[in-house]
Amino acid sequence: MTSYKIAILTGDGIGPEIMREALKVLAVIEKRNTVSFELIDAPFGAGAYFDHGHPFPEQTKTICDAADAILKGPVGLGHEDALKIPVDMQPERGAVLPLRARYNTYANLRPVSLPKGLAHFSPLKPEVIGDGLDIVLIRELVGGLYFGDKIVGVDDGNLRFVEETLRYDEQQIRQVLIVAFDLALGRSKVLHNIHKSNVLKSSVLWNEVLEEVRQDYPSVEVINMLVDAAATHLCLNPGQFDVMVMENMFGDILSDQCGGLLGSLGLMPSACVGDGKAYYEPSHGSAPDIAGQNIANPYSMIGSVAMMLEHSFGMVDEANNVWAAMQGVFSDGYSTPDLSPAGSRAEIISTVQFGDRVVEKLQAHGGK
Ligand code: NAD
Repeated sequence: MTSYKIAILTGDGIGPEIMREALKVLAVIEKRNTVSFELIDAPFGAGAYFDHGHPFPEQTKTICDAADAILKGPVGLGHEDALKIPVDMQPERGAVLPLRARYNTYANLRPVSLPKGLAHFSPLKPEVIGDGLDIVLIRELVGGLYFGDKIVGVDDGNLRFVEETLRYDEQQIRQVLIVAFDLALGRSKVLHNIHKSNVLKSSVLWNEVLEEVRQDYPSVEVINMLVDAAATHLCLNPGQFDVMVMENMFGDILSDQCGGLLGSLGLMPSACVGDGKAYYEPSHGSAPDIAGQNIANPYSMIGSVAMMLEHSFGMVDEANNVWAAMQGVFSDGYSTPDLSPAGSRAEIISTVQFGDRVVEKLQAHGGK
């Protein structure tokens, strides 16, 4: 019997609702395999700040350090509520970025997947969405503007100013590009490199390092594209993309755009990987506008479990079973409210009902 410790960071807003469904799915996997999952809850996010005085308390660090993998729900508060927390203690600055830095999870893999049968969920026209979407966006996750030095002050002219540093060294760039090339090699062998080298020197260095790394991958075709153009191309012809790689802030923004292409951020799971421990989280935030209503789409959280099964535990077949079960629920004509407007043909189901149906599908499938 193999045993894995998983730190469970439930998070804020819809976090508890979607995590509950993800853990139901994990329990099915555990029951039918020779594996045991030890789940250890740990406070993280705005709730942790109010209950323990810090969004990433020491006890949570200890639990995460000892875990084989970390499953994280979304954190954060709505704009007004966030003001109740000091700026440096707000959950993304005080918890998410330190989590990424602690485990050096430099590559964030965000699948943007909409099989043909679910293409109607996309707001794009049928002739644009074609046979659906199957993109993996790789976002550099521990460098760039989000991690650079920050100075806030008042200048000689008595004007308030802020200065934020965008820094990358070549090793930070190289390590995420290697992940991207490796992934492209195993897929369509086409890599879109998203950059802004016409303006940013960081992109000039990024592209220089890319030219060095690509020497080791002669069979991978590289297509260089400016980030602003990429935003347009994603709307007009998303089918041209397979693997995309980009720096931290570009990836933050373009991946949310991809959520729009799919029809909802609720379809966006992710894996945050480096050379050591990985963590798994939905790409979206805590959705305070729908929290507590049992209407959030748990696909992103359950999909994060599937990514954990594959990447941290090598359980590729079960990961594929989880994807198939979720897509099967949609194919049966059910939908969470985010994906289907009232009056559409889909039968609208709640967060809990979606989780129940995924569990039913998994159990019917029998495993392995
Ligand atoms: P958001 O991603 O929480 O929500 C944007 C929109 O998408 C909302 O309309 C929301 O209802 C919808 N949505 C998101 N996830 C959904 C799901 N699973 N099912 C159905 N609909 C879903 O973005 P926001 O409202 O700008 O941010 C809320 C908070 O989340 C902020 O505090 C922000 O800082 C934080 N945040 C955290 C993370 C993270 O934990 N890594 C990431 C992004 C934002």
